[in-house]
Amino acid sequence: MTDPVAGRSPGRASGAHLPGAHQWLGIIEEYRDRLPVSESTPVITLCEGGTPLVLSQSLSEETGCEVWLKYEGANPTGSFKDRGMTLAISKAIEEGSKAVVCASTGNTSASAAAYAAKAGITCAVLLPKGKVALGKMAATLVHGARMLEVLGNFDESLELAKDLSEHYPVTLVNSVNPYRLQGQKTAAFEICDALGRAPDVHCVPVGNAGNISSHWMGYSEYLADGMIAEPPQLFGFQASGAAPIVNGAPVKDPQTIATAIRIGNPASWDKAVAAATQSEGGIQSVTDREILSAYRRVAREGLFVEPASAASVAGLLQLHQAGTLRRGSIVVCILTGHGLKDPEWAISGAAHPITVPPDAAVVAGELGL
Ligand SMILES: *Cc1c(COP(=O)(O)O)cnc(C)c1O
Repeated sequence: MTDPVAGRSPGRASGAHLPGAHQWLGIIEEYRDRLPVSESTPVITLCEGGTPLVLSQSLSEETGCEVWLKYEGANPTGSFKDRGMTLAISKAIEEGSKAVVCASTGNTSASAAAYAAKAGITCAVLLPKGKVALGKMAATLVHGARMLEVLGNFDESLELAKDLSEHYPVTLVNSVNPYRLQGQKTAAFEICDALGRAPDVHCVPVGNAGNISSHWMGYSEYLADGMIAEPPQLFGFQASGAAPIVNGAPVKDPQTIATAIRIGNPASWDKAVAAATQSEGGIQSVTDREILSAYRRVAREGLFVEPASAASVAGLLQLHQAGTLRRGSIVVCILTGHGLKDPEWAISGAAHPITVPPDAAVVAGELGL
């Protein structure tokens, strides 16, 4: 028998009365004084946030920096979108909304569907037809969302969602909803709280550009309140086939295997540029080949992410090769979403399994034991 106190898991709610017991309560309760909520805001939470910040030995050795990976795939629906969605849905309920709508490349819809289910309201999602990974479709459907496939790309789906919310009684929960960025800024708070300071360099994938904008808000607020002495340089990375900010013009038909950042006209374009400029960082592009190489690399360190998530690590390696990183810098790369929702690239890049009889000697032979 394990000792009942020492053996308990730290987050077990049933142990909440035990000394030292603690369950992470979700970003609204954990950062209540830094978010636009009041006593009367209903808190719709799946205990999102509190995600692991993992030191990468191999990336640290290669770059001569201290490289940390913020694993946002550990959120309840497998992406950072949950940080923004808990607040967007809570505020929608506070304001009396009975239905929410979003356009999505898959993770926003999975998150909206889950939080709307928790709140007991209707969720409608607009997905670009044929462009969404199977796992993301499943994660959206299982919560009972109304899924509509749009004959168009993400950018057109977002215009449609905005149009609906302007003319019908339904709340838009894409990242143009200001509560989404408010919730997502908590990733920056968590990083500073974990490191005891801000990193020197912060790398993040850029799609619709909400995340990079929200992270800059978070660091700026901590800086203004004296919680940190210096903000990091923010570097955002677009896929080279979907790099409107880097090119300086919208991309009509964006192409990349990193579906979560296949976006040609980012909603938070100006905010992202401001974040990069004010922090003395930048917005750059990485190729699909670089993204896939980084994807396999973090997988070999035990972190399964989706391709888009690996753009931050691909970007870090690019900064290193360009000589941009000072030796000894503290670097954080955001790994935005879990790999299981888009497993295609994990399987296609892997060796085929071998079929064996149930015979230990044969199996040992195959394994070279
Ligand atoms: C949404 C998403 C992105 C892009 O984030 P933006 O805020 O749109 O820039 C990147 N990776 C994953 C896994 C996502 O779900």
